[in-house]
Amino acid sequence: MASCAARGRAELSKAQAVRRIGILGGTFDPVHIGHLRSALEVAEFMGLDELRLLPNARPPHRDTPQVAAEDRLAMVREAVQGVACLSVDARELERDKPSYTIETLESIRAELADNDQLFLVLGWDAFCGLPTWHRWEELLQHCHILVLQRPDADVEPPDELRNLLAARSESDPAAMSGPAGNISFVWQTPLAVSATQIRQLLASGKSVRFLVPDAVLAYIEAHELYRAPN
Ligand code: ATP
Repeated sequence: MASCAARGRAELSKAQAVRRIGILGGTFDPVHIGHLRSALEVAEFMGLDELRLLPNARPPHRDTPQVAAEDRLAMVREAVQGVACLSVDARELERDKPSYTIETLESIRAELADNDQLFLVLGWDAFCGLPTWHRWEELLQHCHILVLQRPDADVEPPDELRNLLAARSESDPAAMSGPAGNISFVWQTPLAVSATQIRQLLASGKSVRFLVPDAVLAYIEAHELYRAPN
């Protein structure tokens, strides 16, 4: 099946082709149409060969209803089935502890060609928290950062990020060149859906139809996930 980018760049010979890979991390507890629409729009807008949804191991402090990592992963797999540009990267769930993003990037980078482009997709809130991340100053050695910004958002970055933005931001996301090193913004209106809302609906016995793909709904029902304890 042709990817988003392959359809537009079919004439490129294999020798010339530089792959453009995006990564969108999340707990996906469960994956929903907000994640999927956003991922698809980014992939198409950026002409990515592949945008990987990367389920995170759940940090121990999260007090959400527990579904097994295998279930979160299975639902993401169901959700992207047959979608050309979207795929799933399970590496963080295959480790026995939560991973730092820098380690995940190093691991992905080791599997790519030197000139392949890697884009880490982050919401504005996550981006603003970057200075608290483990070895955050090394992130741009491995990837570009694509910040998803709401058109109506306040765009004042925290002080710690001002210098980085001044040095590394590229106003046109499509113009980010090379394998890594730039930051750019994509303006996107998110659908008003959250996994929290979905868990709450299910816990109160309500339907989440049309908030998740039908295959995810079928999985939730078959495995009786997110139900309130009797
Ligand atoms: P929760 O309600 O459990 O906090 P969530 O719905 O925000 O979950 P996450 O798995 O935490 O989902 O999010 C993964 C990524 O998807 C994050 O970058 C988050 O900003 C983004 N995201 C979440 N909801 C939406 C949405 N409705 N539209 C676009 N992106 C979203």
